[in-house]
Amino acid sequence: MRTLFDSRPHEECGVFAVHAAGADVARLTFFALYALQHRGQESAGIATCRDGVAHVHKGMGLVTQVFKEEHLRPLVGDRAIGHTRYSTTGASHLRNAQPYLLHTIHGPVGVAHNGNLTNATALRQELLAKGVGLTGESDTEVIAQLLAAPTAEREPDWEGRIARFMAVAEGAYALTILTPGALFAVRDPHGFRPLCLGEVRTEHGLGWAAASESSAFVTIGGRFLREVRPGEIVRIDANGITAHQAPVPPRPPSLCVFEYVYFARPDSRFEGQMVHQARQRLGRELAREAPCPEADLVIPVPDSSVAAAIGYARESGLPYNEGLMKNRYIGRTFIAPTDELRKSGVRLKFNAIDQNLAGKRVIMVDDSIVRGNTAGKIVALLREGGAKEVHVRVSSPPVRHPCFMGVDMATYDELIGHRLNVEQIRDHIGADSLAYLSHEGMMRAVTEGIRGADAGHCSACFTGVYPAARRGPPRSLP
Ligand code: SF4
Repeated sequence: MRTLFDSRPHEECGVFAVHAAGADVARLTFFALYALQHRGQESAGIATCRDGVAHVHKGMGLVTQVFKEEHLRPLVGDRAIGHTRYSTTGASHLRNAQPYLLHTIHGPVGVAHNGNLTNATALRQELLAKGVGLTGESDTEVIAQLLAAPTAEREPDWEGRIARFMAVAEGAYALTILTPGALFAVRDPHGFRPLCLGEVRTEHGLGWAAASESSAFVTIGGRFLREVRPGEIVRIDANGITAHQAPVPPRPPSLCVFEYVYFARPDSRFEGQMVHQARQRLGRELAREAPCPEADLVIPVPDSSVAAAIGYARESGLPYNEGLMKNRYIGRTFIAPTDELRKSGVRLKFNAIDQNLAGKRVIMVDDSIVRGNTAGKIVALLREGGAKEVHVRVSSPPVRHPCFMGVDMATYDELIGHRLNVEQIRDHIGADSLAYLSHEGMMRAVTEGIRGADAGHCSACFTGVYPAARRGPPRSLP
């Protein structure tokens, strides 16, 4: 989700939906959002619905800060959607928290969104010109208003209204939608952002769910079924799951490769493989491409680089150990809201494990270097902890291009890989040596474990080759 008035309009989010008649769907959603907390830590919300009556609660902060018992109790229903939102500067406001809930002529509709509509400005202007009032700056509100627009003669059902939205929308969207009769899970025709389906067994019987990542199902005692296909509209109701492709032109599948590199939980599954396994292969490729045989030790930057560091150590034959202790109760540096906080946040997050580092030539495996604010601090910390040499190995290529598909990398200037070459970055972070995985190596590692024919990836922030036009020509609203 992105905000239009934000100078740095960028974020990842987590979405969830569950239909389970008789069950405490708000509580199930709470625990699923807890499992998706890594995808967004700025705000959280849950909306529920039963018998055409909807309820919503949302607030700023972590899931456990937003929801107490007294907030969950009124959220009654046999279906629910939920959202965790990523932090941005200037958009950290309750009015942009999700889900959006609107009352329409067709009954209540709630929307939870992960992604970024690249033509949101044009769609927003068209809505305003039609006299539709908007309360915030978010493109998610635009989506909700487009779904609510009263053209019932042509689209008598929600499937039709969703298809109408998809016909005019450009960019990235993984949506969970709450309506009086059903839930919907919808993915844009490129499939930029992940979305998957699962089933949940409760004491009241079988229920069905959708989530950004499969690990959310495991947390609530459920089971992963399959991914939502790019361009697919999935209906979830009391009868189970029904799905069809939206009547929009097919596009090349373009799942964000950064999900494998960094975003997703290692125990989540995409394209038939577990993220942890793909990350280990990234580390193995890195060890083959950028060996450092004179080193004594391989350490990860916890937690997202652990799998890649294990892969690097196994491939290189060097010992693996921990060199940094992470305080897991502080949000990831990547999503701190300002550069200033990013810089000061690192010391709050990591302590060096001196005994493992003293006198050692250390290979520090990191999953990515985006702005370059974190890596230098960690290198300094390792030296303070006694490391004799610090060799940084990055299990993805330099990030040189912005992302317009809903990830926190929206301008060239903020990307150290755009401003500096590899030797300059090495100097900037104070490492003895620095090497990145090649794009070919990254894609080889990611695609090797894929099961199924429909896979395809976006890697535009590494290559500058965008699967979709950055700002598609505005299409007219119906
Ligand atoms: S540009 Fe990068 S971060 Fe954005 S969707 Fe593509 S791979 Fe993901």
